[in-house]
Amino acid sequence: MSIKENFCPKCGGETDNEGLCNKCMRSTLEWLVCQPRVECICCPTCDSMKKGATWSDVPYDQKKLAEELAIGAMSVHNDVQDLEVGLVSLVELNPNRTLCTVFARGILYEKHVQKSCDVLIVWRREQCDRCGRLSGGYYESTIQVRATNRRPDLYERIRVDKIAHDVEDTVQEAGDRLSFITRIDDIRDGVDIIVSSHSIGAMISRQIVTEMGGKITRHPKLVGEKEGRKLYRVTILLRLPQFRQGDVITYKNRYYEVRGADKGFLRVFDLKEGNTDVLHDESEYRLIGHVREAETADVTYIDQDMAGILDPVTYEIREVKALAWLKLSDHEKVRFLRDPEGGGIILVG
Ligand SMILES: [Zn+2]
Ligand SMILES: [Zn+2]
Repeated sequence: MSIKENFCPKCGGETDNEGLCNKCMRSTLEWLVCQPRVECICCPTCDSMKKGATWSDVPYDQKKLAEELAIGAMSVHNDVQDLEVGLVSLVELNPNRTLCTVFARGILYEKHVQKSCDVLIVWRREQCDRCGRLSGGYYESTIQVRATNRRPDLYERIRVDKIAHDVEDTVQEAGDRLSFITRIDDIRDGVDIIVSSHSIGAMISRQIVTEMGGKITRHPKLVGEKEGRKLYRVTILLRLPQFRQGDVITYKNRYYEVRGADKGFLRVFDLKEGNTDVLHDESEYRLIGHVREAETADVTYIDQDMAGILDPVTYEIREVKALAWLKLSDHEKVRFLRDPEGGGIILVG
């Protein structure tokens, strides 16, 4: 076996290479090149970043972003193997300038090499598309939450508000930057949720109906044209059901607690039999109250299928049916509502 003897044309040393020896190749090759200056456009309000013409949310702080931009400003020659890059130091010169020193190391022609370079990050502030829309009160859709033959109560208003914000969190996390709640107005007749996109409007209204029941009707309106596209605004009228979960109603001399409402029927709990049922005839119901408003009475005695309870207002003993599902026992408590017509006592558990 014969080794070809070559001589390096630069230093004259022996080498196996055709041409420069490894040492001379290493010293002449500019294997690390850094862009000395990188500009980054950020929104002063929400820290979004603009790349080309598109804005996106950056899921970390400015220091992390500076490091990433500085590392992205490095170009390393392909012959460097086992490449490792990282940050040496980061200095915030002023609010608009961050100086990063970054390093690259690896193996070049069989020997370790290491170099560092400085990259100046220049921050430019510009209001992003989302903040522009937010500050301008931009909206595409209004969800009018109302109730059938009544006004939504405080609990429903709070729940609607929470559902809307939960949906907003979900779509923002999914990266839909331009879907947000512009405003929520709590008004006498209900709640108006004003949103920035048709898609979030549809999602919020669907979620409210899924959780609380009710019906939706949509009313689109042409408001203009932009870049050849017709612009619509949609008013979504959402009617919550007439009866809420927990309402106690009477129908054909029986009392029921409402468990839910679907198209054309009510799911109820029969307060006499202690089982669930479905009712269909909406017009015949009379509202007694809500289980949340129930009073509490002491059970004073039980006598076979009858029981005595102490009326907390009049301090009279009222005799009621000891319904099996209530599993009453004396000296315990039971909750009840009063029927305003006739003053009867309705045990709700
Ligand atoms: Zn050489
Ligand atoms: Zn912004």
